Amino acid sequence: DVRVRFAPSPTGPLHIGGVRTALFNYLFAKKHNGTFILRIEDTDQNRYVPGAEDYIIEALNWCNIPYDEGPGKEANYGPYRQSERKDRYRDYALQLVEKGAAYYAFDTAEELAEARQKAESNKETFIYNHHNRDQFTNSLTLSNNEVRDRIASGDAYTIRFKPELKTLFMHDEIRKGIEIDTSLLDDKVLFKSDGMPTYHLANIVDDHEMKISHVIRGEEWLPSMALHVLLYESFGWDAPKFAHLPLILKPTGKGKLSKRDGDKLGFPVFPLAWNPEVGSSSTGYREDGYLPEAVINMLAFLGWNPGTEQELFTLKELIHAFDLDRVNSSGAKFDPEKTKWFQQQWFVQQDDAVIGSAFAKALQEKNIDYKSQDYVNIIVGLVKERAVFVEDLFELAGFFFTAPKEFDNKAASKSWKDDTSDLMQHVIDVIQKAGDTTALELSNAVKGWIKEQEMGFGKVMMPLRLSLVGSLMGPDVFEIASMIGVDETISRIRFASE
Ligand code: GLU
Repeated sequence: DVRVRFAPSPTGPLHIGGVRTALFNYLFAKKHNGTFILRIEDTDQNRYVPGAEDYIIEALNWCNIPYDEGPGKEANYGPYRQSERKDRYRDYALQLVEKGAAYYAFDTAEELAEARQKAESNKETFIYNHHNRDQFTNSLTLSNNEVRDRIASGDAYTIRFKPELKTLFMHDEIRKGIEIDTSLLDDKVLFKSDGMPTYHLANIVDDHEMKISHVIRGEEWLPSMALHVLLYESFGWDAPKFAHLPLILKPTGKGKLSKRDGDKLGFPVFPLAWNPEVGSSSTGYREDGYLPEAVINMLAFLGWNPGTEQELFTLKELIHAFDLDRVNSSGAKFDPEKTKWFQQQWFVQQDDAVIGSAFAKALQEKNIDYKSQDYVNIIVGLVKERAVFVEDLFELAGFFFTAPKEFDNKAASKSWKDDTSDLMQHVIDVIQKAGDTTALELSNAVKGWIKEQEMGFGKVMMPLRLSLVGSLMGPDVFEIASMIGVDETISRIRFASE
């Protein structure tokens, strides 16, 4: 059974790298009829940020990649917050001590700081492992009685891992074979003096207990893979398969995309805006008007490709096409322009009624009246090809709702001549006679009249458009006239003629 998990720490808003990890886990799970689990890794109380868990859940829902098991969706393997599982980790750490794969360490923070400083003054990096662990106060250097006494008297201790010294061969689904000399590893703390597990222990224990089959996560966790594999070996458990996703790079390709890059470069790096009370003013894709379809499509291509020319994928198509074999190991450049392109592609594919209802809502927010939802939907159909966001519709279609108050200067001097106002009086008569009717009939009436007068079309069409729109842009002028109605059309021509 495929069981995968997305295991964020609730330390703030989810950056798109996190959403990409969640998406790849989701796609992999759905592809294999498996289960996608959300586990909240909140053992580090110092870094806990209120609201972050809700944000994560809301972001997954907005992206249409909900989890099957997790907080609020309890199944057989819960609870899904590590803080609610904290009582189980000590026993596991003790199991390893029992087996000789871990040991108690009584070093105080001061002692460790001193040792670190000493190493630094010798221009060495401090590492606590087989080469020096016998110089410290731990259960490998103390007698059993001393250890027992210290624990009984309440001395603070951590439990450290003691990696077996060997060449470790590992397999990553994306990077394939990896070989590592375990003597280079440090004796990682598994269990802290405050009674909480470290990330490594809790992560392994939970993946085991939750029967995770594949660990799919960001490349930043690749350096931890050896430790995790060794931990599985020490427990005598089968390890899940591992797949480390490539880094997401800045648009320049230089360095990792960071949470701050969004503000700097003016594009969102978060799915949703993060409550500014909690610290950041960054906008999110949702608030900037992106469709989840576009965001998902863009994220899928950060490190994966289908091996074909196809670029537009629905979530369903992604599930079908996705494969870890087609995930690259080299960094994926984040491209805001491409993201906009995805947005534009998905925007035009939306039903007019879907965009229409979003646009109607936006109109209401701005206190702009509209005749009916149908009216809005038709307008969307007329202009959406040129829009990327709902917000663009105000500029592309605002004149369907409100008469222009000003006229574009250049357009006015180009289209409005000395005799134009007189001419428009006649056009008003023609339109009045045609009455409220279709664009085609209005067009026939006005164009017929122009022909009769043996004038150039531009002489009438340009000022007519200017009157209705305020500039020389927009869809067919008779579509506009027919939509806004004869009375409004005439009143706009009169206003422009004044
Ligand atoms: N809590 C870790 C994180 O925040 C999980 C890493 C993993 O997936 O093992 O990314």
